[in-house]
Amino acid sequence: MKIYENSHYEKEECSCFMARDDKERFLVVTGGTKMEEFRGEALLMDGKKAKKCPLDVHNSRLVREIFPFTKPVSVRGRKFSIGLGDRLGIASAGHIKAVRGKGVFPVLAQQSIRELNLTGRTYDEVLADATWAVLQEGYEDGYGADGDHLKTKGEVAMALEAGFSMITLDCSEFIGDSNLTQSEAGHLETYRDCTFDLPGGVSINISEENYTETIAIYGRALEFTVEVYNELLRERDDVDFELSIDETMTPTKPEAHFLIAAWLKEKGVNVLNIAPRFCGEFQKGIDYRGDLMQFEKELRLHQAVAEYFGHRLSIHSGSDKFSVFPIIGRLTGLDCHVKTAGTNWLEALRCIATAAPALFRRMYRFALDNLDGAKAYYHIYTEKQMAPDDEALKDTELDRLLDINESRQILHVTYGYLLNETNPFRKIFFETMHKEETLYHEYLKSHIRRHLSSLMSMQ
Ligand code: ZN
Repeated sequence: MKIYENSHYEKEECSCFMARDDKERFLVVTGGTKMEEFRGEALLMDGKKAKKCPLDVHNSRLVREIFPFTKPVSVRGRKFSIGLGDRLGIASAGHIKAVRGKGVFPVLAQQSIRELNLTGRTYDEVLADATWAVLQEGYEDGYGADGDHLKTKGEVAMALEAGFSMITLDCSEFIGDSNLTQSEAGHLETYRDCTFDLPGGVSINISEENYTETIAIYGRALEFTVEVYNELLRERDDVDFELSIDETMTPTKPEAHFLIAAWLKEKGVNVLNIAPRFCGEFQKGIDYRGDLMQFEKELRLHQAVAEYFGHRLSIHSGSDKFSVFPIIGRLTGLDCHVKTAGTNWLEALRCIATAAPALFRRMYRFALDNLDGAKAYYHIYTEKQMAPDDEALKDTELDRLLDINESRQILHVTYGYLLNETNPFRKIFFETMHKEETLYHEYLKSHIRRHLSSLMSMQ
């Protein structure tokens, strides 16, 4: 048994720590009246009664109750935050090692409904995994939990019920042609056909055309947003609210962003972040594709709009966007939120490529066979025939497949197939990852640190 050094905590005679053996990680609790409430097997430690407890949902709730630093909290009051979704439930400890002491607030638990469905997890389980990582690392600086891309009231209610501290509402299903008449948007009259001076010495003109177009495209989506906010979030000042409009085909015009923020302000919606759809492409797992000058020009305007209304920009699909990170850092002054979701999965595969090459080859071929199915969920440019051939690589060279854009994207989007419960790799994958915990954390730390230093490079 190996004890995680930083996980020793005591409160009112209840003492606990986390440990691992060659099969699994677990919690050991001794003393205190609370001990009875933990689920686990009784054992004797130095002649004292103790319990060896599995890292499950029930036990994680007790830990959050006894040690409040393990509970997710609002990001308000901190400038720069980063979303670090953990699809496997084993990455967050490595994420903590990456952000510790770097002045960035981590949102450790961050999953969309699509990710929950593809990995067969629940919000309770996602939050439990983050709780264990926080205890394991003894991380007391606070973290967030984001119910990402939620599309219905039921989904928002489910994330709140599980104790999430942030809600990202995705109203994209209502974006498009709405039948909203202009009189129904009467509260925006004062913004019509006007020019506004924004922070940073820029101005924005809301022409008659911008006005009618924005109401036609976003009107119904904004009504839905206000409805969800009033019903479920208005009373919850402990919960951060983000509005995402990024999953649409056309980029969000800064003028539309301005009117959307104005609409929310007039309706008293306290929105912390807005995620516009930026120009160019933010594809999974690879760098930005598009015109950097255009991106910078539009980002400057989006940032000015955000400062004018007092919210932050949220940048989605932010992993590996190294060519735009310095621009984002400089223009936002790092008063923003950046979400990365799936690259912790790719770093896990890098471990597999290094530690279990034969398993990695099987997984890679399985990914290729299922690429077409996965492309229904994720927009990537890679086609099957572009895939590099693993047979041309020696075992020691296999990790190169994690650095080539095409194979990287293929492995990135097929996680749902590779981790499916009926899949024979799943068990051996997790067993290998348990053995390689230290290596995995090292990979994650250097991967996320590269993101942070690029974002901070122009400060
Ligand atoms: Zn998004």
